[in-house]
Amino acid sequence: MTKVDCKLVAQGFKPGSCAVEVNGKRSVACVATLRKHEGSLQRLISAVHLSRPENYLSIYQSGCNLSCRKCHSWYFSQEAKGQWQSPEQILEQAIAYDKQVTLHEPRERATAWHASESCRCCGSCIVNDKRSDSCPGVTPPESVVLSPQGFGPARNIVAFTGGDLTCLPEFYGECTRLIKDRTKLWVLIETNGYGLTSRNLDYLQESGVDAFWLDIKAFDPRTHKWLTGCTNESILHLPEEMVKRGFVLEVLSLYIPNLVEGDELVNIARLIEKVDRTIPFTVLAFFPEYRMRDYQTPTIEKMVEAYKRIKSLGLENVRLGNIGVFVRTEEDRQYLSSQLGDEAY
Ligand code: SF4
Ligand code: SF4
Repeated sequence: MTKVDCKLVAQGFKPGSCAVEVNGKRSVACVATLRKHEGSLQRLISAVHLSRPENYLSIYQSGCNLSCRKCHSWYFSQEAKGQWQSPEQILEQAIAYDKQVTLHEPRERATAWHASESCRCCGSCIVNDKRSDSCPGVTPPESVVLSPQGFGPARNIVAFTGGDLTCLPEFYGECTRLIKDRTKLWVLIETNGYGLTSRNLDYLQESGVDAFWLDIKAFDPRTHKWLTGCTNESILHLPEEMVKRGFVLEVLSLYIPNLVEGDELVNIARLIEKVDRTIPFTVLAFFPEYRMRDYQTPTIEKMVEAYKRIKSLGLENVRLGNIGVFVRTEEDRQYLSSQLGDEAY
């Protein structure tokens, strides 16, 4: 594999788990999916579209500094796949999207978490001409648009998602400066946190990044290492470091049976609660993918129990996600609703 001068090492950290496949060979993500071309930085981008249920413009990046066994984006995060795009090309798409925005959120709602408060993406108001029972009833049907992943509003947020190379933050910084200068969009980075050293966080703050969606994959360092290829020591400090710098923050973790269960999630929740109990925390249900296809999905009872334990710590904004994974019947739905109410998902 190509040897590189890892910029994390220069800051006292260990390199990520950054191998990506390029035409059957292994390379390093920051070589295979990030380059300088004719004086401009370019990133390999797999797709750009309005995503559901987040209801914002997502930029799906190829190549990642972790190699998660459960990655749902492995076919472009672990393999170099996509088209080279410069910050100017990202800007063009952001400008076009800005003109299509149908729902303007204040900065503190520049999260995926808040999306479901305005629309559940059921499409009922368009297809059936009436709202569904789960509809929050706040988005007018004329603000609901069709995108490749279904119906919903277009919120004024642009997010970097998929593979994460925040260890080399300049591409994000250059894109953000242009987007903030030329549009009214908030800029969100969905991140595993591995590349977010203090220096990189400072740089992204100066560049104008508004928000982070931090995926804390495990509290136990050995579990994190097994899952992702890397330790989580610096990641566990990030909620505090991000809030200190004025970023909007939301956290997510996956419930993975026999690996990241109630105790792990409670430890992550404690960490969040110490920083600010209003930080939104989503617990997603794991479903088998990539190198964890023989793992089970969590039961509804385990998800409900985890939710109750986390709420009892005093966190105010907790939600369960990937509901379809553990709520399979009407009976399940009624059980969930009777145990937690409709605010929990
Ligand atoms: S606004 Fe329309 S698409 Fe959104 S949840 Fe309500 S009925 Fe469904
Ligand atoms: S950090 Fe995200 S994109 Fe990267 S390997 Fe892990 S799950 Fe996949």
